[in-house]
Amino acid sequence: MLDNQKYPELSQSIKSLRGVGPSLTKTLGKLEIFTIGDLLKHLPTSYEDRSHIVPIKALELGQNALIEGEIVDSQLAYGKKRSLLITVSDNTGYIKIRFFHFSKNQQSALKIGALIRAFGIPRITKSGFEFAHPDYQVHMEKPPPPSDSLTPVYALTKGVGQRRMRSLTKQLVEITSAKQGVDSYETMLYLHRPPQNATDNDLREAQEKIAADELTAHYIAMKQQQRMYHSLPAIPLPSSIKLGRLLLNQLGFTLTKAQQRVLREVLEDLEKPIPMLRLLQGDVGSGKTIIAAFAAIRAAEQGRQTAIMAPTEILAEQHYLNFCNWLEPLGISVELVTGKQRAPVKRRVEQAIASGTALVAIGTHAIFQKSISFNNLSLTIIDEQHRFGVHQRMALLEKGAISHQLVMTATPIPRTLTMVLYGNMDVSVIDEQPPGRQKIDTRAIPYERREQVISAIKSATDGGQQAYWVCPLIAESDQLQLAAAETTAQMLSQHIGASSVSLLHGRMTNTDKTTVMRAFKDGKIKLLVATTVIEVGMDVPNATIMVIENPERMGLAQLHQLRGRVGRGVLPSHCILLYKNPLSEKARERLEIMRTSTDGFHIAEKDLEMRGPGELGGTRQTGEQQFRVADLAKHAHLIPSIITNAEALMRSDKQAVDLLLETWGPRSIETLKV
Ligand code: ADP
Ligand code: MG
Repeated sequence: MLDNQKYPELSQSIKSLRGVGPSLTKTLGKLEIFTIGDLLKHLPTSYEDRSHIVPIKALELGQNALIEGEIVDSQLAYGKKRSLLITVSDNTGYIKIRFFHFSKNQQSALKIGALIRAFGIPRITKSGFEFAHPDYQVHMEKPPPPSDSLTPVYALTKGVGQRRMRSLTKQLVEITSAKQGVDSYETMLYLHRPPQNATDNDLREAQEKIAADELTAHYIAMKQQQRMYHSLPAIPLPSSIKLGRLLLNQLGFTLTKAQQRVLREVLEDLEKPIPMLRLLQGDVGSGKTIIAAFAAIRAAEQGRQTAIMAPTEILAEQHYLNFCNWLEPLGISVELVTGKQRAPVKRRVEQAIASGTALVAIGTHAIFQKSISFNNLSLTIIDEQHRFGVHQRMALLEKGAISHQLVMTATPIPRTLTMVLYGNMDVSVIDEQPPGRQKIDTRAIPYERREQVISAIKSATDGGQQAYWVCPLIAESDQLQLAAAETTAQMLSQHIGASSVSLLHGRMTNTDKTTVMRAFKDGKIKLLVATTVIEVGMDVPNATIMVIENPERMGLAQLHQLRGRVGRGVLPSHCILLYKNPLSEKARERLEIMRTSTDGFHIAEKDLEMRGPGELGGTRQTGEQQFRVADLAKHAHLIPSIITNAEALMRSDKQAVDLLLETWGPRSIETLKV
């Protein structure tokens, strides 16, 4: 923990450091670095070992290394692009260093006879090893010994480079190095400049210590918010005329055990005079919508309104149709709110919601518009929660004094993560699929057998079924990805028929996306070629084949989400993982898990396990929750002890709690406003 009283410099502005003017201050603000304390918390994401000089003859391909030697040649090379090519010798061998961009000053400094020290990754060329654009310094006489600590690598933003960030944290370490004692402050300073003999294990332990502090603070903040929320009054919604029972009798199916349990949990919450704040987790197709319907019926029995929000127009319409079927026969009036409605329709809908005749309003974010005002909103249901920002949820909260809230998500998250990420909510889980669901036949097929896959699609589409084809992820460039997808779509058009194939990609406008999705839903398009993740919750029962190119590059969670687009009807469905050889061990294991399991929660647990604590610098699980230091994939194993510790602190050590919240507060608390 950081104690600002013990270390007053922590609250000083970043401007007090040498070389930090207004423009850099602004740039650092983007990284949420405003004070010295914030800089202290901006810990390195990895390290480079520049503490010893590697003889040129001992260089290894692809392995970062620091070399030192004399420039023995310097010339301009004219290949495809002009470059400055210098040759360095250190008595053990020669290496070339190439610059494609260089200034006149650089060129004259890099002259024959000068000493150079350079850090880079050797790659192989026709004439031997070469560095391209290494970090370097030129010296006219023997340079000082190399750094005796590991070189930190920081997360950056446009306008501040690695060199600048290192010089800032060097100052930080200098002005504060006199401090003694073992607390988080020391640990963070250590992480900014670890000694060269620090092992991976030392570094990991230090990181874990800080991550644990941050997660503890987050958990405590979540719990405090939950308590605060539960201390507010809400309109209780007790059972009365039992309209729900009528629907239950007419449904045409019986609720699964899991649905019954979850429904009971929701209805019990609604009866209380405090606001419900509940997360409903259930894999795609597990039947969350009907739970929402029963909750809305309960509110309607009391003459009170429910708002239901979906992330896209198509999903809102899908819900609207379902709710009309279920609720209108019970005499409960349902309205749809979308951005596209014409003025007269819009006026009528607004009027119905304002007067309270519409008891259920279903919509997209259009439901947040100022013109929509509810008569007596008491229940808010949010579908596919991760698509909504905090601000939108807040805007809806403002529409009902304090309403009961049900948040539904199809993203299975391992239990331990849920306890921290959604610590402010009660959690219900539908861990069972309705009976009679087709198990999706999942196969991993190498790219060389693509033709076979195409002919399988052709015979399915000829037979009236539909299919998805998800194009490879090309992380480097949207443009490349789009080009690749266009080529794929064209190729598939030739086989399947141009009028039956459509492309859906991230650069399309929302209107165009909706048009394509709707055509697919209506069966006008047989094959949907997509670059982006296809609509969450999109229900096209006639789609039976999902082809995923380059599945080896995707995470398990994403693969599972994609696969969930098929297997929604009565016909057998298939998921084809069209992979490229060679597969890494991990990729092979991931595909194997996909092949053998369709249980989202099992897959999520495996995903976490595989990414595990060992992985350094792995990608974060979700973009929505950004911790400064903690990485949920890396630090999940700490969570059980973090929770025990946090609960103990909350019971007995108010001072420690305050300190933790003060240190890590702003971010955690920002993400909290459910
Ligand atoms: P999701 O949890 O993905 O939102 P839905 O609520 O859309 O799932 O349900 C998927 C389909 O399963 C719908 O067509 C729904 O009517 C149906 N369904 C829901 N519960 C049951 C059940 N207990 N038995 C049979 N079908 C069900
Ligand atoms: Mg759904």
